[in-house]
Amino acid sequence: NKDDRISRISSSIRVIPDFPKPGIMFQDITTLLLDPKAFKDTIDLFVERYKDKNINVVAGVEARGFIFGPPIALAIGAKFVPMRKPKKLPGIAYTLLVHSCNYYNLFSYLTYITSFSVFVICAFVPMTYYYTVSERGCWEVISEEYSLEYGTDKIEMHVGAVQPGERAVVVDDLIATGGTLTAAINLLERVGVEVVECACVIELPELKGRDRLGEKQLFVLVSST
Ligand code: AMP
Repeated sequence: NKDDRISRISSSIRVIPDFPKPGIMFQDITTLLLDPKAFKDTIDLFVERYKDKNINVVAGVEARGFIFGPPIALAIGAKFVPMRKPKKLPGIAYTLLVHSCNYYNLFSYLTYITSFSVFVICAFVPMTYYYTVSERGCWEVISEEYSLEYGTDKIEMHVGAVQPGERAVVVDDLIATGGTLTAAINLLERVGVEVVECACVIELPELKGRDRLGEKQLFVLVSST
């Protein structure tokens, strides 16, 4: 039954105090992956929830969303879209210039203008146009910045990976402050995708990430203190 599965999942997660820095109770899902039954139960619970909801896209956030997302996508017949840390997805400078509104910092902006000029000088304009503005659009990368406890981070997605009107679930291992999931939702919504829900194995309710998601539904298997 469902409760047995949840308690098996919960007890398979190893909690490591003070990692990666003092005061953090790190929820280590690698031990869940070592228990094939707990891992299968985790995937099954998500699949049971999403299989009849016309989901076209499972978007997984780097890195642990890449572990849970793909088996869910395969089981429900959806595509898997990786939402990656900066500079991992192949993209081109033109794209970054188009989305320079993300770059508040003057230095970064000038860097991108310079790299764009280099492209022009090298006569890459037609190729750039073909791959980003034409219907093939598969190289266009958009990014979204979000705040961390100290500083900021960023995730990126290929625009051509999804189509306006598609229905998505965003998957990650854990929600803490909700900053990562909010950025993932924003990226998908910017390109016209409907984000139906976010799905995580673990929630840290004290950090109120659920509130940060606002109206957006959040589905979690385990709550941890
Ligand atoms: P947040 O954006 O604050 O919701 O943080 C969520 C992201 O940070 C997820 O990708 C998690 O993998 C990671 N994370 C944050 N806190 C923890 C924690 N206590 N244990 C494991 N991962 C964490």
